[in-house]
Amino acid sequence: MSGHRHCLMGLMPEQITETLGLKPFQGRQIFHWIHRKGVVDFDAMTNLAKPLRERLKEECVAQDMRIVNVQVSEDGGAAKVLIELRDGERVESVLLRDGDRVTLCLSSQAGCPLNCAFCATGADGFRRNLDAGEIAGQALLLLAAGEVPREVTPNIVCMGMGEPFLNYDNLVAAIHLLMHPEGLEIGARRITVSTVGVVEGIARFAAEDWQVRLSISLHAANEELRSQLVPYNKKDSLARLRDSVRDYGAKTGRQITIEWTLLDGVNDTPKDVRELLAFLRGLKAFVNLIPWNPVPGMPFLSSTRANCMNFLQGLEQGGVKATLRRENGGDIAAACGQLRAQHEPPTPV
Ligand code: SF4
Repeated sequence: MSGHRHCLMGLMPEQITETLGLKPFQGRQIFHWIHRKGVVDFDAMTNLAKPLRERLKEECVAQDMRIVNVQVSEDGGAAKVLIELRDGERVESVLLRDGDRVTLCLSSQAGCPLNCAFCATGADGFRRNLDAGEIAGQALLLLAAGEVPREVTPNIVCMGMGEPFLNYDNLVAAIHLLMHPEGLEIGARRITVSTVGVVEGIARFAAEDWQVRLSISLHAANEELRSQLVPYNKKDSLARLRDSVRDYGAKTGRQITIEWTLLDGVNDTPKDVRELLAFLRGLKAFVNLIPWNPVPGMPFLSSTRANCMNFLQGLEQGGVKATLRRENGGDIAAACGQLRAQHEPPTPV
């Protein structure tokens, strides 16, 4: 793969310019080819002078990761891709289609250190943080694999493998790449970052000068159950999390989304609804209920349809807006935090 060559995927136009000692317009042109047009073959960058193309081929690669497997859900609404990084680590990303709407779910870490009880990624342990190019580059690979037309602006959710706020600086750099006017130019409001509740990250995020959305994977609203489901709760408790979410709302004026994966008999009862309503009191929040996709070997069952509906109604009666996510791509385990490579070991190519 790239060896000692520069990988340009993670660089802003001015960084390309600086790294290669180019003129500013050349850095912008190269960035535009890679991030707007999705072109990673330097020979195809036809508005660059031939000697520059030759030099780029010698010294750089535009991208140093590749898709090694694609699984498409039976309903065609979801495609999960397995991506191999330069060092052989693998991450997954998902493309979801709903009519004209395209959503790309990106990973921020290879593996995850947080070990949530219902999550296949956590069960596999942590490998390493992704760099900015590896996070943003997933979007380009997904758009190409899904043959998404250029005029469609995708939505981005950082909800794949990993806890984004444990890789904060790279995450923020990746978002700037995705929003760049010479690149995909994705509006901040189309981008959502999902955290289990890393309080320090929420505070930093509140101070960013942008409209990127925040989502909290809550799953339980009492300390004991949450510590079981999301062990990170032992570090930043629900009480601390609630304070930080309140501060975030006060500072930004923005609504947050609460993600709640419904597990049969564990967090889908009327008591759980009451606890969630109490947690949300005074917060500007919207709740996204996610039917759990069963993971073999995990001690949970999916909530029944009736319990899902009762939970939804309970929230609505309590004055909280909520939706029950449809089980889009459930057959390929495309839900948040449940990504894991379910594939044969790689064959060398
Ligand atoms: S749910 Fe998210 S934070 Fe929790 S272990 Fe899985 S990937 Fe990590």
